Amino acid sequence: MLQVAVVGSGPSGVYAAQGLVQQEQVPGVRVDVLDRLPCPYGLVRYGVAPDHKKIKSLQGTLRTVLEHERVRFLGGVRVGPDGLPAARLRELYHAVVYCVGAATDRHLGVPGEDLPGSWSATDFVSWYSAHPDTVPDGFATGGFVAGARAAVVIGVGNVAVDVTRILARGAAELSPTDIPQAALAALAGSRVREIRMVGRRGPSQARFTTKELRELGGLPDTGVVVDPAELALDPAYADPSALPGVQRRNVEVLRGWAERPQAAGSRRIRLRFFLRPVELLPDAGGDRVGAVRFERTLPDGRGGVTGTGRYEDIEAQLVLRSVGYRGVPLEGLPFDADRGTVPHLAGRVLRDGSVASGEYVAGWIKRGPTGVIGTNRPCAKETVASLLADAPALARREVPPDPLAALRAQGLHPVDWSGWQAIERAEAELGASLGRGVVKLPDWQSLMRAARGQGTA
Ligand code: NAP
Repeated sequence: MLQVAVVGSGPSGVYAAQGLVQQEQVPGVRVDVLDRLPCPYGLVRYGVAPDHKKIKSLQGTLRTVLEHERVRFLGGVRVGPDGLPAARLRELYHAVVYCVGAATDRHLGVPGEDLPGSWSATDFVSWYSAHPDTVPDGFATGGFVAGARAAVVIGVGNVAVDVTRILARGAAELSPTDIPQAALAALAGSRVREIRMVGRRGPSQARFTTKELRELGGLPDTGVVVDPAELALDPAYADPSALPGVQRRNVEVLRGWAERPQAAGSRRIRLRFFLRPVELLPDAGGDRVGAVRFERTLPDGRGGVTGTGRYEDIEAQLVLRSVGYRGVPLEGLPFDADRGTVPHLAGRVLRDGSVASGEYVAGWIKRGPTGVIGTNRPCAKETVASLLADAPALARREVPPDPLAALRAQGLHPVDWSGWQAIERAEAELGASLGRGVVKLPDWQSLMRAARGQGTA
């Protein structure tokens, strides 16, 4: 019987597990889904914004896979030199599918990027999502927003839209979500009134999707402002009919806002374009960010932009750099540093250009940090098809009858499904004690206490 380890319990990992157990080509495949966190669901739990309840509800679908009789969730297992080495994992399973995502953020590479008050958007997302590895400074500084009146979000992708929206939401809208209590309290006290979301190219090249963009226009007490003259610098703005669907609809939404300025509220979201960041400037005291210097750009006619030598400084006590995720190398696996992915052929890991037996990838570590959650389905399907085609050869290798026993013998004690359910109960109890619904536990200690059945106290 084929034993497979899937590393990572986000959408790509769970879709891979689903593909492996819901097929008849190779009967009886058993799958262990490992995760370094004690909680499953990856970016659905720790990336999807708390107010996106419908997307969050996908957890229910992922849950049914993890509760399948031939699937086991093994949380709290870090694959790598400081946990379970990849080479050891290979010994325990006939095949390993790495679905580890893209764990870090891209950098801007401009002076001042690391000034206090400048954060990667992924830090901010991790904080409001209660990721237990959240930088402690996020709390120490009063939860990102302390002392800030104006925020600049650099980048115009869906993460930029998420962080912009969360900055603009009031406590009444966030309280019914599972946002951790400290983040809720900090955002409730936020005095950020101006949020500028800034793209280096034009509106027709923005990466956000239309539903997400449109949502910004419906936020209570918040007006969206665009500058028609700035939008019109984009040649496709006047006549977007030739653009692909998403881009055309994005431009139409922006045109609507340009033609019908939004009713004023106490907060303002300004969408800016053709501005590329060149430097983050300190405030008058010199110890925090105070503004972002942008160079004005113009379309170059080939989809890119050229600089104009004209600059604009935009005030910001909070800067969120939202310029994309990036995969990180996993010890023991090959890595393409330029693309931030593991080289592969239809999901089979390539070592020095040749297929490595029994090693596979799916999701962002395979194709880069693009697409929506559903994109992971066909991606995982391709990988699973490769694995199943290789199954006869893979099954010839002897592996221990129960990898979990081998892990335990090695001193590893994974959080199993009942441990995760204990975390779910603890989060429901915490919420009830706060007069809220489910509220996420934000740190390792309380997660592990709950998982080991010790409650949250
Ligand atoms: P993204 O879609 O790749 O957007 C990155 C943005 O950063 C782009 O606007 C890009 O501009 C800009 N950028 C990159 N380097 C820059 C630089 N040096 N200076 C200025 N701007 C720069 O990345 P993302 O927003 O992190 O999203 C990642 C993936 O997750 C996407 O596929 C996204 O759709 C998905 N996601 C989906 C949802 C949802 O469905 N609700 C929510 C969150 C994330 P250029 O285009 O000019 O490079």
